[in-house]
Amino acid sequence: MIIDCHGHYTTAPRQHEGWRNEQIEAHKAGKPPPPRPRMTDDEIRETIAGGQLKVQRERGTDLTIFSPRAAGMGHHFGDARTSEAWASACNELIHRVCTLFPKNFIGVGMLPQSAGVSPKNCISEIDRCVGEYGFVGINLNPDPSGGHWQDPPLSDRYWYPVYEKMVEHDIPAMIHVSAACNPAYHTTGSHYLNGDTVGFNQLMNSSVFKDFPTIKFIIPHGGGAVPYHWGRFRGLAQDAKLGLLTDLVLNNIFFDTCVYHLPGQQLLAKVIPVDNILFASEMIGAVRGIDPETGHHYDDTKRYIDQLALSTEDKAKIFEGNARRVYGRLSVTIEKQSARAV
Ligand SMILES: [Zn+2]
Repeated sequence: MIIDCHGHYTTAPRQHEGWRNEQIEAHKAGKPPPPRPRMTDDEIRETIAGGQLKVQRERGTDLTIFSPRAAGMGHHFGDARTSEAWASACNELIHRVCTLFPKNFIGVGMLPQSAGVSPKNCISEIDRCVGEYGFVGINLNPDPSGGHWQDPPLSDRYWYPVYEKMVEHDIPAMIHVSAACNPAYHTTGSHYLNGDTVGFNQLMNSSVFKDFPTIKFIIPHGGGAVPYHWGRFRGLAQDAKLGLLTDLVLNNIFFDTCVYHLPGQQLLAKVIPVDNILFASEMIGAVRGIDPETGHHYDDTKRYIDQLALSTEDKAKIFEGNARRVYGRLSVTIEKQSARAV
């Protein structure tokens, strides 16, 4: 089985994003938001059958761990109530996709975060996502301000209510920023990769893994700058007398394979132990074109893994085994959702 641990619903029916715009405008005008739009099952089916499901089939993958559009989370818009209503709408929609296509999609929730608002605010949505929707993880935005980095670092006890819930439910978090509202950053070009690198560095310089020995985080987009600069992080850990970086982080931190060229994948697999790498493509996502050097889509990351000089066993870990281990509820959820599909 090939499990893609990183996919977003970038193709949702138009009225979903349309309502989001109306909601933000209503908030600005000090008015209540309009009622949520109606979306039929057929409309949702159409966006998936011609989108992510079609690409899964073309590329030979089986299951996508699926969450709301990351750039669309927009935690910097409105206030805590705006974020709550939007997260609720987005997660419900992911649940509908997973109900319509139970063999192909398993849900991960976005959180109703807002800059300066305690993450305690996210607890009831996490409970709903896991308890009612059967989701297996969350996306945690380390910078709800959208590129201004106004909240405490992930090392701070500020975030501990979320970490406690993650451990309680046995769900990992993918560290994933949303759109940048700071013009210095390009959302998917620099803000995403910065978010990955910053999140890793905050966690390595923390006591989070001492306080939560079983907690698990996925650093997406191949870990941002981390694998390429592994020597720098090792040296920083050594200078700070934190011990060996591998001992410090590799029980708790995992990297996905959303790296859009073969040399990058080769480096990731050379630097990071195979047990800490999870297959992912983030399709249909930030980079949608075809690489003229290969004639294939940049984000067809399975092709790169296929070409790595690794054993079949190691590739099976990357494609399936590691995801089942990191997402503690995944195997049971696969069985439950498959039973429903029959
Ligand atoms: Zn993403």
